Amino acid sequence: MAVDINWGELGFGYIKTPYRFVAEYKNGKWNEGGLTGDDKLVISECAGVLQYAQTAFEGLKAYTTKDGRVVTFRPDLNAERMAQSAARLEMPVLPEGMFLRAVEQVVAANRDHVPPYGSGATLYLRPYMFGSSPVIGVKPAEEYQFRLFATPVGPYFKGGVKPLTIRVCDFDRAAPHGTGHIKAGLNYAMSLHAIVDAHEKGFDENMYLDAGTRTFVEETGGANFLFVTKDGKVVTPKSDSILPSITRRSLCYVAEKYLGLTVEHRPVKLEEVYGFAECGLCGTAAVISPVGKIVDHGREICLPSGMDKMGEVTKKLYDTLTGIQMGTIEAPDGWLHEIK
Ligand SMILES: *Cc1c(COP(=O)(O)O)cnc(C)c1O
Repeated sequence: MAVDINWGELGFGYIKTPYRFVAEYKNGKWNEGGLTGDDKLVISECAGVLQYAQTAFEGLKAYTTKDGRVVTFRPDLNAERMAQSAARLEMPVLPEGMFLRAVEQVVAANRDHVPPYGSGATLYLRPYMFGSSPVIGVKPAEEYQFRLFATPVGPYFKGGVKPLTIRVCDFDRAAPHGTGHIKAGLNYAMSLHAIVDAHEKGFDENMYLDAGTRTFVEETGGANFLFVTKDGKVVTPKSDSILPSITRRSLCYVAEKYLGLTVEHRPVKLEEVYGFAECGLCGTAAVISPVGKIVDHGREICLPSGMDKMGEVTKKLYDTLTGIQMGTIEAPDGWLHEIK
């Protein structure tokens, strides 16, 4: 290990690594793109991203498996989702091949920043794309940059798993027919006030409801819900304004094919949640964070799994998916993308 990092003590913050990937879109086409050591960029003061928030991003991680391979998890799905985000924001779609090449080149070039197996830490990868040319009348930019950098992040559950307390939020995250289903920076900009307010009031996260009727569960600011019913079924909310989490989709596959559970992907009324046994938040960072309590204004939903451990089914899902990711349980074809 060439770098001097205490992997177990790392938090989730930006640490500059030596190499990142940059590609530019100009005159209707992408250039070849490649690695650079320069972490700074110069763009017009009037760039589309700065004026009208024309930007989308992705998040995935590279890590070391038990048998010593450096891999990323299903990066093809990140490429696909980024293409969907780009199309919805009138940005040029990046070819999947270039996205995967960027992942491979950045991880390979920063290989000494990939944490060892067992440390719990990972090398987080942040691909993103933005309008870089000047735009003052509202329209899509003409030039774009795609970039991908890497930053090492620490174990998510430092000092053990602590179930979260979340609140039903009075702000909305995404409108029907809006941009909730894509990974756009703008969805996060507007969630910042809600999360700061939630933290000030002692909650870990916001549960957003559907903006149309405020009766169905959508997701949090950055993770999808997964529920377990009292008879052991896995239920995940379905809505056109939920971001399709790769972790949630992978967990549902694992639930069905590895654990033989029944999985329902359907609209979920908040009222129903009062009768559920377990609740978790799914996303790349934590895989699943258990939720112990949901505060719905004056009422409380205390999940039977309680405030000091993951629910039983949640734990099985977590152990199975992390086992697949770490190479101790056989992965479905194509899930682990090895970096040579
Ligand atoms: C990124 C994100 C998720 C989690 O997606 P993963 O692919 O599992 O990391 C969930 N919700 C929102 C709003 C997100 O932006």
